[in-house]
Amino acid sequence: MAQRIVVIGGGAAGIGAAGAAKGTDRSADVRVYTEFEDVGYSPCGIPYVHGREIPDFERLFMATRETYDKAGIDIHYETRVTGFYTDRKIVSVQGEGEVGYDKLIVATGFDYADPGVPGTDLSNLYYVKNIRRAIEWDKVLDGVKSAVVVEASPLGLEMVTALCHRGIETHLVDPGAWALSVATDPDIIAPVQDSWREKGATLHFNTTLTGFAGTGTVRAVQTSDGDIACDLAVVCTKKEANTAVATAAGIRTGSASGVIVDERMHTSAADVWAAGDCTEIPHSVTQIPIQGLSGSHAYSQGKVAGTNAAGGERRYQPVSVPWGMMAGDWMIGGVSFSETLATALGIPHVVGRPRGHQGARRLPGHGGQDRDHHQRVRHHGERLLAADRRAERADRAGRAEPAGRAGVLR
Ligand SMILES: Cc1cc2nc3c(=O)[nH]c(=O)nc-3n(C[C@H](O)[C@H](O)[C@H](O)COP(=O)(O)OP(=O)(O)OC[C@H]3O[C@@H](n4cnc5c(N)ncnc54)[C@H](O)[C@@H]3O)c2cc1C
Repeated sequence: MAQRIVVIGGGAAGIGAAGAAKGTDRSADVRVYTEFEDVGYSPCGIPYVHGREIPDFERLFMATRETYDKAGIDIHYETRVTGFYTDRKIVSVQGEGEVGYDKLIVATGFDYADPGVPGTDLSNLYYVKNIRRAIEWDKVLDGVKSAVVVEASPLGLEMVTALCHRGIETHLVDPGAWALSVATDPDIIAPVQDSWREKGATLHFNTTLTGFAGTGTVRAVQTSDGDIACDLAVVCTKKEANTAVATAAGIRTGSASGVIVDERMHTSAADVWAAGDCTEIPHSVTQIPIQGLSGSHAYSQGKVAGTNAAGGERRYQPVSVPWGMMAGDWMIGGVSFSETLATALGIPHVVGRPRGHQGARRLPGHGGQDRDHHQRVRHHGERLLAADRRAERADRAGRAEPAGRAGVLR
Protein backbone atom coordinates (compact mmCIF):
# COMPACT_ATOMS: atom_id res chain seq x y z
CA MET A 1 0.00 0.00 0.00
CA ALA A 2 1.23 3.52 -0.80
CA GLN A 3 2.60 5.38 2.22
CA ARG A 4 0.52 8.41 3.30
CA ILE A 5 2.60 11.55 3.77
CA VAL A 6 0.73 14.52 5.19
CA VAL A 7 2.24 18.02 5.11
CA ILE A 8 0.77 20.80 7.27
CA GLY A 9 1.58 24.07 5.50
CA GLY A 10 1.74 25.25 1.90
CA GLY A 11 4.55 27.83 2.17
CA ALA A 12 8.12 27.42 0.96
CA ALA A 13 8.84 24.64 3.49
CA GLY A 14 5.62 22.70 2.92
CA ILE A 15 5.81 22.83 -0.87
CA GLY A 16 9.51 21.99 -0.83
CA ALA A 17 8.73 19.01 1.42
CA ALA A 18 5.83 17.78 -0.71
CA GLY A 19 7.87 17.98 -3.94
CA ALA A 20 10.82 16.17 -2.40
CA ALA A 21 8.61 13.47 -0.86
CA LYS A 22 6.93 12.79 -4.20
CA GLY A 23 10.31 12.86 -5.96
CA THR A 24 11.70 10.32 -3.51
CA ASP A 25 8.73 7.95 -3.55
CA ARG A 26 6.61 8.36 -6.69
CA SER A 27 3.97 5.98 -5.34
CA ALA A 28 3.48 7.92 -2.08
CA ASP A 29 0.12 9.54 -1.35
CA VAL A 30 1.29 13.12 -0.64
CA ARG A 31 -1.27 15.52 0.77
CA VAL A 32 -0.75 19.19 1.74
CA TYR A 33 -3.04 21.26 3.98
CA THR A 34 -2.92 25.04 3.86
CA GLU A 35 -5.15 27.72 5.34
CA PHE A 36 -4.43 29.95 2.36
CA GLU A 37 -6.10 30.10 -1.08
CA ASP A 38 -2.81 29.63 -2.94
CA VAL A 39 0.54 27.89 -2.91
CA GLY A 40 3.46 28.20 -5.30
CA TYR A 41 3.93 31.97 -5.18
CA SER A 42 6.73 34.17 -3.95
CA PRO A 43 5.69 36.29 -0.94
CA CYS A 44 9.12 37.92 -1.23
CA GLY A 45 7.89 39.89 -4.24
CA ILE A 46 4.87 41.44 -2.49
CA PRO A 47 6.64 44.61 -1.23
CA TYR A 48 8.05 45.15 -4.72
CA VAL A 49 4.60 45.03 -6.32
CA HIS A 50 3.41 47.52 -3.69
CA GLY A 51 6.40 49.70 -4.67
CA ARG A 52 5.60 49.26 -8.39
CA GLU A 53 9.01 47.76 -9.13
CA ILE A 54 7.25 44.52 -10.12
CA PRO A 55 4.26 45.47 -12.29
CA ASP A 56 1.66 42.97 -11.03
CA PHE A 57 0.94 40.19 -8.55
CA GLU A 58 0.42 37.58 -11.28
CA ARG A 59 4.18 37.54 -11.85
CA LEU A 60 4.72 36.23 -8.31
CA PHE A 61 2.94 32.97 -9.05
CA MET A 62 5.40 30.30 -10.08
CA ALA A 63 3.04 27.35 -10.39
CA THR A 64 -0.68 26.78 -10.89
CA ARG A 65 -3.03 24.42 -9.09
CA GLU A 66 -2.81 22.15 -12.15
CA THR A 67 0.99 21.98 -11.78
CA TYR A 68 0.55 20.28 -8.43
CA ASP A 69 -2.31 18.07 -9.63
CA LYS A 70 -0.13 16.83 -12.47
CA ALA A 71 2.75 16.21 -10.07
CA GLY A 72 0.42 14.02 -8.00
CA ILE A 73 0.43 16.29 -4.96
CA ASP A 74 -3.01 16.61 -3.40
CA ILE A 75 -3.36 20.13 -2.00
CA HIS A 76 -6.28 21.00 0.26
CA TYR A 77 -6.65 24.79 0.12
CA GLU A 78 -8.30 26.92 2.82
CA THR A 79 -8.29 23.91 5.08
CA ARG A 80 -7.11 24.19 8.66
CA VAL A 81 -5.49 21.38 10.60
CA THR A 82 -6.71 21.74 14.17
CA GLY A 83 -4.41 19.16 15.74
CA PHE A 84 -2.60 15.86 15.39
CA TYR A 85 -2.11 12.80 17.55
CA THR A 86 1.18 10.94 17.25
CA ASP A 87 -0.03 7.88 19.20
CA ARG A 88 -2.86 7.19 16.71
CA LYS A 89 -1.07 8.80 13.73
CA ILE A 90 -3.96 11.02 12.72
CA VAL A 91 -4.46 14.68 11.93
CA SER A 92 -7.73 16.46 12.76
CA VAL A 93 -8.85 18.56 9.83
CA GLN A 94 -11.57 21.19 9.86
CA GLY A 95 -14.37 19.95 7.57
CA GLU A 96 -12.70 16.56 6.95
CA GLY A 97 -12.49 14.99 10.40
CA GLU A 98 -9.69 12.57 11.26
CA VAL A 99 -7.17 11.73 8.55
CA GLY A 100 -4.53 9.02 8.98
CA TYR A 101 -0.85 9.41 8.13
CA ASP A 102 2.24 7.24 8.00
CA LYS A 103 4.63 10.22 7.95
CA LEU A 104 3.83 13.79 8.97
CA ILE A 105 5.68 16.99 8.10
CA VAL A 106 4.93 20.13 10.11
CA ALA A 107 5.61 23.30 8.07
CA THR A 108 3.30 25.78 9.78
CA GLY A 109 5.66 28.74 9.32
CA PHE A 110 5.58 32.02 11.17
CA ASP A 111 3.30 34.70 12.58
CA TYR A 112 4.34 38.31 13.16
CA ALA A 113 4.90 38.92 16.86
CA ASP A 114 1.92 40.55 18.57
CA PRO A 115 2.96 44.20 19.09
CA GLY A 116 1.54 43.82 22.61
CA VAL A 117 0.12 47.36 22.80
CA PRO A 118 -3.43 48.77 22.93
CA GLY A 119 -5.27 49.27 19.65
CA THR A 120 -4.29 46.16 17.69
CA ASP A 121 -8.01 45.58 17.01
CA LEU A 122 -8.24 48.74 14.86
CA SER A 123 -8.57 48.42 11.10
CA ASN A 124 -5.88 49.58 8.66
CA LEU A 125 -3.18 47.62 10.46
CA TYR A 126 -1.49 45.72 7.66
CA TYR A 127 0.40 42.45 8.31
CA VAL A 128 1.99 41.57 4.94
CA LYS A 129 1.71 37.84 4.26
CA ASN A 130 -1.05 36.22 2.22
CA ILE A 131 -0.94 37.28 -1.44
CA ARG A 132 -4.76 37.56 -1.77
CA ARG A 133 -4.85 40.01 1.11
CA ALA A 134 -1.88 41.85 -0.41
CA ILE A 135 -3.86 42.32 -3.64
CA GLU A 136 -6.68 43.86 -1.58
CA TRP A 137 -4.30 46.04 0.44
CA ASP A 138 -2.66 47.27 -2.73
CA LYS A 139 -5.95 48.99 -3.63
CA VAL A 140 -6.15 50.47 -0.12
CA LEU A 141 -2.66 51.95 -0.61
CA ASP A 142 -4.03 54.02 -3.51
CA GLY A 143 -6.00 56.07 -0.97
CA VAL A 144 -3.35 56.25 1.77
CA LYS A 145 -1.62 59.59 2.34
CA SER A 146 0.54 58.78 5.37
CA ALA A 147 1.74 55.50 6.83
CA VAL A 148 3.88 54.25 9.71
CA VAL A 149 6.03 51.15 9.38
CA VAL A 150 6.44 49.49 12.76
CA GLU A 151 9.93 47.98 13.17
CA ALA A 152 12.91 48.02 10.88
CA SER A 153 12.90 44.27 10.22
CA PRO A 154 13.82 43.03 6.71
CA LEU A 155 10.15 43.38 5.70
CA GLY A 156 10.04 46.80 7.37
CA LEU A 157 12.96 47.96 5.24
CA GLU A 158 11.24 46.77 2.08
CA MET A 159 7.93 48.38 3.02
CA VAL A 160 9.50 51.77 3.83
CA THR A 161 11.03 51.76 0.34
CA ALA A 162 7.77 50.58 -1.27
CA LEU A 163 5.60 53.22 0.45
CA CYS A 164 8.05 55.98 -0.48
CA HIS A 165 7.90 54.79 -4.09
CA ARG A 166 4.11 55.06 -3.89
CA GLY A 167 4.41 58.71 -2.88
CA ILE A 168 3.05 58.02 0.62
CA GLU A 169 4.36 60.10 3.54
CA THR A 170 6.24 57.37 5.37
CA HIS A 171 7.49 57.07 8.95
CA LEU A 172 9.57 54.26 10.40
CA VAL A 173 9.44 53.49 14.13
CA ASP A 174 12.05 51.19 15.65
CA PRO A 175 13.51 50.70 19.13
CA GLY A 176 17.02 50.13 17.73
CA ALA A 177 19.61 52.82 17.11
CA TRP A 178 19.62 52.15 13.37
CA ALA A 179 17.63 50.04 10.91
CA LEU A 180 17.99 46.25 11.09
CA SER A 181 20.37 46.77 13.99
CA VAL A 182 20.48 43.08 14.92
CA ALA A 183 21.94 42.22 11.53
CA THR A 184 23.78 45.26 10.19
CA ASP A 185 26.49 47.69 11.17
CA PRO A 186 25.68 51.41 11.30
CA ASP A 187 28.05 52.36 8.46
CA ILE A 188 26.52 49.72 6.17
CA ILE A 189 22.94 50.87 6.77
CA ALA A 190 23.70 54.64 6.85
CA PRO A 191 23.48 55.17 3.06
CA VAL A 192 20.17 53.25 3.00
CA GLN A 193 18.77 55.57 5.66
CA ASP A 194 20.08 58.61 3.75
CA SER A 195 18.34 57.42 0.58
CA TRP A 196 15.05 56.97 2.49
CA ARG A 197 15.33 60.53 3.83
CA GLU A 198 15.97 61.73 0.26
CA LYS A 199 12.69 60.03 -0.67
CA GLY A 200 10.90 61.92 2.12
CA ALA A 201 10.75 59.26 4.87
CA THR A 202 11.00 60.23 8.55
CA LEU A 203 12.97 57.80 10.70
CA HIS A 204 12.25 57.42 14.41
CA PHE A 205 15.02 55.31 15.99
CA ASN A 206 15.41 54.57 19.71
CA THR A 207 11.63 54.88 19.73
CA THR A 208 9.24 52.38 21.28
CA LEU A 209 5.74 51.62 20.06
CA THR A 210 3.18 52.24 22.82
CA GLY A 211 -0.14 51.91 21.00
CA PHE A 212 -2.39 52.41 17.99
CA ALA A 213 -5.01 55.16 18.36
CA GLY A 214 -8.24 55.79 16.45
CA THR A 215 -11.94 55.08 16.41
CA GLY A 216 -12.47 51.92 14.40
CA THR A 217 -9.58 52.77 12.08
CA VAL A 218 -6.03 53.65 13.06
CA ARG A 219 -5.45 57.41 12.99
CA ALA A 220 -2.15 57.60 14.87
CA VAL A 221 0.71 55.40 15.98
CA GLN A 222 1.64 56.17 19.58
CA THR A 223 5.31 56.03 20.54
CA SER A 224 7.68 56.88 23.38
CA ASP A 225 8.44 60.02 21.35
CA GLY A 226 4.84 61.14 20.77
CA ASP A 227 2.00 60.36 18.34
CA ILE A 228 2.46 60.06 14.59
CA ALA A 229 -0.73 60.71 12.59
CA CYS A 230 -1.35 58.17 9.81
CA ASP A 231 -3.99 56.43 7.66
CA LEU A 232 -2.23 53.05 7.80
CA ALA A 233 0.25 51.14 9.97
CA VAL A 234 2.29 48.31 8.49
CA VAL A 235 3.22 45.92 11.29
CA CYS A 236 6.62 44.38 10.53
CA THR A 237 7.44 42.87 13.91
CA LYS A 238 9.72 39.89 14.39
CA LYS A 239 8.68 36.57 12.85
CA GLU A 240 7.71 34.07 15.55
CA ALA A 241 7.49 30.34 15.03
CA ASN A 242 3.90 29.15 14.60
CA THR A 243 4.09 26.00 16.69
CA ALA A 244 0.51 25.90 17.98
CA VAL A 245 -0.48 22.50 16.57
CA ALA A 246 2.98 21.02 17.16
CA THR A 247 3.20 21.98 20.83
CA ALA A 248 -0.39 20.85 21.45
CA ALA A 249 0.68 17.46 20.07
CA GLY A 250 3.59 17.30 22.53
CA ILE A 251 6.37 18.05 20.02
CA ARG A 252 9.39 19.60 21.74
CA THR A 253 10.32 23.22 21.11
CA GLY A 254 13.58 24.88 22.13
CA SER A 255 15.24 28.04 23.37
CA ALA A 256 14.31 30.03 20.25
CA SER A 257 10.68 28.80 20.57
CA GLY A 258 10.89 26.79 17.35
CA VAL A 259 10.35 23.06 16.88
CA ILE A 260 13.56 21.19 17.70
CA VAL A 261 14.79 19.09 14.77
CA ASP A 262 17.84 16.94 14.14
CA GLU A 263 19.94 17.20 10.98
CA ARG A 264 17.37 15.08 9.11
CA MET A 265 14.68 17.61 10.18
CA HIS A 266 13.10 14.94 12.37
CA THR A 267 11.28 16.14 15.51
CA SER A 268 11.01 14.65 18.98
CA ALA A 269 8.07 12.43 17.88
CA ALA A 270 8.34 9.25 15.80
CA ASP A 271 7.54 9.75 12.08
CA VAL A 272 7.09 13.51 12.47
CA TRP A 273 9.40 15.94 10.63
CA ALA A 274 9.35 19.73 10.58
CA ALA A 275 10.80 22.43 8.35
CA GLY A 276 10.84 26.18 7.78
CA ASP A 277 10.07 29.07 10.08
CA CYS A 278 8.30 26.88 12.65
CA THR A 279 11.67 25.24 13.48
CA GLU A 280 14.92 26.37 15.07
CA ILE A 281 18.34 25.55 13.63
CA PRO A 282 21.84 25.96 15.13
CA HIS A 283 23.93 28.89 13.89
CA SER A 284 27.10 27.47 12.31
CA VAL A 285 29.43 29.72 14.30
CA THR A 286 27.90 29.70 17.78
CA GLN A 287 25.80 26.52 17.53
CA ILE A 288 23.09 28.54 19.31
CA PRO A 289 19.61 27.76 17.89
CA ILE A 290 18.09 30.53 15.79
CA GLN A 291 14.64 30.85 14.26
CA GLY A 292 12.87 32.87 11.58
CA LEU A 293 15.34 32.57 8.72
CA SER A 294 14.36 33.09 5.07
CA GLY A 295 12.12 31.52 2.45
CA SER A 296 15.24 30.03 0.87
CA HIS A 297 16.18 28.29 4.10
CA ALA A 298 12.59 27.11 4.54
CA TYR A 299 12.51 25.61 1.06
CA SER A 300 15.84 23.79 1.53
CA GLN A 301 14.73 22.46 4.91
CA GLY A 302 11.47 21.30 3.36
CA LYS A 303 13.45 19.37 0.76
CA VAL A 304 15.41 17.63 3.49
CA ALA A 305 12.32 16.83 5.56
CA GLY A 306 10.34 15.58 2.55
CA THR A 307 13.15 13.38 1.25
CA ASN A 308 13.73 11.76 4.64
CA ALA A 309 10.03 11.35 5.41
CA ALA A 310 9.59 9.48 2.12
CA GLY A 311 12.44 7.09 2.90
CA GLY A 312 15.42 8.89 1.34
CA GLU A 313 18.47 10.34 3.03
CA ARG A 314 19.42 14.03 3.22
CA ARG A 315 20.87 16.19 5.92
CA TYR A 316 20.64 19.88 6.81
CA GLN A 317 23.69 21.62 8.26
CA PRO A 318 23.84 24.47 10.78
CA VAL A 319 23.36 27.76 8.96
CA SER A 320 25.75 30.66 8.39
CA VAL A 321 22.76 32.91 7.49
CA PRO A 322 23.63 34.47 4.16
CA TRP A 323 21.18 37.31 3.40
CA GLY A 324 20.72 40.09 0.89
CA MET A 325 18.02 42.60 0.01
CA MET A 326 17.25 45.90 -1.64
CA ALA A 327 16.53 48.84 0.66
CA GLY A 328 16.21 52.44 -0.46
CA ASP A 329 18.64 52.90 -3.34
CA TRP A 330 20.94 50.16 -2.06
CA MET A 331 21.49 46.45 -2.17
CA ILE A 332 22.75 45.29 1.22
CA GLY A 333 23.71 41.86 2.45
CA GLY A 334 26.03 39.76 4.50
CA VAL A 335 26.73 36.41 6.01
CA SER A 336 26.90 35.28 9.62
CA PHE A 337 27.19 38.26 12.02
CA SER A 338 27.54 42.02 11.75
CA GLU A 339 30.67 43.33 13.41
CA THR A 340 28.54 45.08 16.04
CA LEU A 341 26.77 41.89 17.05
CA ALA A 342 29.90 39.74 16.92
CA THR A 343 31.69 42.21 19.18
CA ALA A 344 28.72 42.35 21.56
CA LEU A 345 28.69 38.57 21.72
CA GLY A 346 32.46 38.40 22.12
CA ILE A 347 32.54 35.84 19.35
CA PRO A 348 36.16 36.07 18.19
CA HIS A 349 37.30 35.57 21.75
CA VAL A 350 34.79 32.93 22.74
CA VAL A 351 34.97 30.53 19.83
CA GLY A 352 37.77 31.91 17.66
CA ARG A 353 35.68 31.55 14.53
CA PRO A 354 34.71 34.01 11.79
CA ARG A 355 32.54 37.01 12.56
CA GLY A 356 30.98 37.53 9.17
CA HIS A 357 30.97 39.70 6.12
CA GLN A 358 28.79 42.67 5.11
CA GLY A 359 28.46 44.97 2.15
CA ALA A 360 26.28 47.65 0.55
CA ARG A 361 26.19 48.26 -3.19
CA ARG A 362 24.37 51.17 -4.74
CA LEU A 363 21.66 50.11 -7.17
CA PRO A 364 22.31 50.93 -10.85
CA GLY A 365 21.48 54.48 -11.85
CA HIS A 366 22.05 55.97 -8.39
CA GLY A 367 25.85 56.48 -8.36
CA GLY A 368 27.83 56.62 -5.10
CA GLN A 369 30.48 54.48 -3.47
CA ASP A 370 29.97 50.90 -2.45
CA ARG A 371 30.79 49.86 1.12
CA ASP A 372 32.30 46.62 2.18
CA HIS A 373 33.61 45.15 5.40
CA HIS A 374 35.85 42.72 3.61
CA GLN A 375 39.07 44.33 4.83
CA ARG A 376 38.24 43.37 8.36
CA VAL A 377 36.72 39.97 7.87
CA ARG A 378 37.33 39.07 4.26
CA HIS A 379 39.18 35.84 4.69
CA HIS A 380 36.71 34.15 7.00
CA GLY A 381 33.66 35.76 5.42
CA GLU A 382 34.59 34.57 1.97
CA ARG A 383 35.29 31.12 3.25
CA LEU A 384 31.75 31.06 4.56
CA LEU A 385 30.36 32.34 1.27
CA ALA A 386 32.39 29.73 -0.59
CA ALA A 387 30.99 27.07 1.74
CA ASP A 388 27.47 28.22 0.91
CA ARG A 389 28.21 28.04 -2.81
CA ARG A 390 29.62 24.54 -2.32
CA ALA A 391 26.47 23.56 -0.43
CA GLU A 392 24.31 24.90 -3.24
CA ARG A 393 26.33 23.00 -5.85
CA ALA A 394 25.99 19.85 -3.77
CA ASP A 395 22.27 20.56 -3.54
CA ARG A 396 22.02 20.78 -7.32
CA ALA A 397 24.08 17.60 -7.73
CA GLY A 398 21.56 15.92 -5.46
CA ARG A 399 18.86 16.95 -7.94
CA ALA A 400 17.05 19.19 -5.48
CA GLU A 401 15.86 22.64 -6.48
CA PRO A 402 18.40 25.26 -5.44
CA ALA A 403 17.48 27.24 -2.38
CA GLY A 404 15.57 30.44 -3.03
CA ARG A 405 13.13 29.16 -5.61
CA ALA A 406 10.24 28.54 -3.31
CA GLY A 407 7.24 26.88 -4.88
CA VAL A 408 9.04 25.26 -7.81
CA LEU A 409 8.67 21.54 -7.97
CA ARG A 410 11.76 19.42 -8.50
C1 LIG B 1 6.01 39.79 2.60
C2 LIG B 1 7.05 38.73 2.67
C3 LIG B 1 8.31 38.98 2.15
C4 LIG B 1 9.29 37.98 2.18
N1 LIG B 1 10.52 38.23 1.65
C5 LIG B 1 11.45 37.26 1.59
C6 LIG B 1 12.70 37.46 0.95
O1 LIG B 1 12.96 38.55 0.42
N2 LIG B 1 13.58 36.43 0.90
C7 LIG B 1 13.31 35.21 1.45
O2 LIG B 1 14.13 34.30 1.39
N3 LIG B 1 12.13 35.00 2.09
C8 LIG B 1 11.20 35.99 2.16
N4 LIG B 1 10.00 35.75 2.75
C9 LIG B 1 9.78 34.42 3.32
C10 LIG B 1 9.54 34.42 4.83
O3 LIG B 1 10.30 35.35 5.50
C11 LIG B 1 9.61 33.05 5.46
O4 LIG B 1 10.93 32.68 5.75
C12 LIG B 1 8.93 31.96 4.68
O5 LIG B 1 7.65 32.36 4.26
C13 LIG B 1 8.82 30.73 5.57
O6 LIG B 1 8.18 29.71 4.88
P1 LIG B 1 7.41 28.59 5.67
O7 LIG B 1 6.88 27.65 4.65
O8 LIG B 1 8.23 28.05 6.76
O9 LIG B 1 6.20 29.35 6.39
P2 LIG B 1 5.01 30.27 5.90
O10 LIG B 1 5.35 31.00 4.67
O11 LIG B 1 4.61 31.04 7.12
O12 LIG B 1 3.85 29.25 5.51
C14 LIG B 1 3.11 28.59 6.51
C15 LIG B 1 2.04 27.75 5.85
O13 LIG B 1 1.41 26.97 6.84
C16 LIG B 1 0.00 27.06 6.70
N5 LIG B 1 -0.57 26.77 8.02
C17 LIG B 1 -0.18 27.23 9.22
N6 LIG B 1 -0.91 26.67 10.21
C18 LIG B 1 -1.78 25.83 9.60
C19 LIG B 1 -2.80 24.95 10.07
N7 LIG B 1 -3.07 24.81 11.37
N8 LIG B 1 -3.51 24.24 9.14
C20 LIG B 1 -3.28 24.37 7.81
N9 LIG B 1 -2.29 25.17 7.32
C21 LIG B 1 -1.58 25.88 8.21
C22 LIG B 1 -0.25 28.45 6.14
O14 LIG B 1 -1.49 28.52 5.51
C23 LIG B 1 0.93 28.54 5.16
O15 LIG B 1 0.60 27.87 3.95
C24 LIG B 1 9.00 36.73 2.75
C25 LIG B 1 7.71 36.50 3.28
C26 LIG B 1 6.76 37.47 3.26
C27 LIG B 1 5.39 37.19 3.81
